[in-house]
Amino acid sequence: MTPVRVAIAGSTGSIGRQTLEVISAEPDSYVVVGLSAGSSVDLVVEQALKFRPSLVAMSDEAARERVRDALAGVGGIEVVADATEMCGIADVVINGVVGFAGLPVTMATLKNGRRLGLANKESLIAAGPIVQPLRQVEGADLVPVDSEHCALHQCLRSSVDTNREVARLVLTASGGPFRGRSFADLEQVSVDEALRHPTWSMGPKITIDSSTLMNKGLEVIEAHELFGTGFDDIDVVVHPQSVVHSMVEFTDGSTIAQLSMPDMRLPIGYALGWPERLRTPFGKIDWTQLSRLDFEPPDRRAFRCLDLAYQAGRSGGTAPAVISAANEVAVDAFMSRRITWHQIHDVSAAVLDHSTIVMPTSVEEVIDADRCAREDAERVISGMIS
Ligand code: MG
Repeated sequence: MTPVRVAIAGSTGSIGRQTLEVISAEPDSYVVVGLSAGSSVDLVVEQALKFRPSLVAMSDEAARERVRDALAGVGGIEVVADATEMCGIADVVINGVVGFAGLPVTMATLKNGRRLGLANKESLIAAGPIVQPLRQVEGADLVPVDSEHCALHQCLRSSVDTNREVARLVLTASGGPFRGRSFADLEQVSVDEALRHPTWSMGPKITIDSSTLMNKGLEVIEAHELFGTGFDDIDVVVHPQSVVHSMVEFTDGSTIAQLSMPDMRLPIGYALGWPERLRTPFGKIDWTQLSRLDFEPPDRRAFRCLDLAYQAGRSGGTAPAVISAANEVAVDAFMSRRITWHQIHDVSAAVLDHSTIVMPTSVEEVIDADRCAREDAERVISGMIS
């Protein structure tokens, strides 16, 4: 069998590195044809020397020149600027770029009629109305790498008619490092505390989003975009062990859940292998060690970002782009200690409140909404700290 050709956008990040681990576990089944990164020169060079892709894309110009120099004596590797160039030469593109910057890869992969393993939820959330039609391109497929949506994708495989049979989607949330804390308890939390995720080891942006439950709110919008489910039929339940990754409740009262130990290599492998399953187990459960599974409702008063994201999702149009962009800026400001943890919500809420929401008909309108929201977020933050 010819190996599946894989391109990885964001290869030096957490998702990118784990994708290469999965590929290393099944070297006969997958071959790396493209890698892209921002500015991590040493790691991308190391990856390129090991996996020998035909393309390496570096967005940062100075970093690109250094990668070019480092790979100068190595035949068959072209170093380019634009990550979308790899989208046409792969069977599967894993998009592990952080934030809105992942949009060009999402669009180029679907336009080229390729399978997109989507770990970059922001591109689908912000540009849903623009990305959705591209899913109809012949050969295009979208397989979620987000663990909750990968779980839902697996649960929905058991349904013969999802429109008729699905009653609701239930997304699980670990609750993050601040589960159980009250609104007042969260007044003074530090960046280091917010970065200490109890069950998942992930990049800093998503880890902060998990601490505010904004990540879960954005995932509600992501589930709506992926599966077409209405917001009234998508619920969130806190499940601290992160073993049940999400569930689908059917009209007859039956619930199907997907369980595995928290390990992102499973959803990555699911997207790489789809519609087949990997032969290598990642996150296999040892039932002799698993003593309990707990569930509780989210505390919507302490973790206000959850309902804020629902509000943006229900508004539709450019509202999800606005909330996602404002949140990215607010998370940056929190990590550089310019605002408090609660102010991540306050910035995002203020920007959503100021924004004129339209139904975008072009990607330019989405990019414009994103840019305006970022500028407004900076203004709101400046007003808070002056
Ligand atoms: Mg997730």
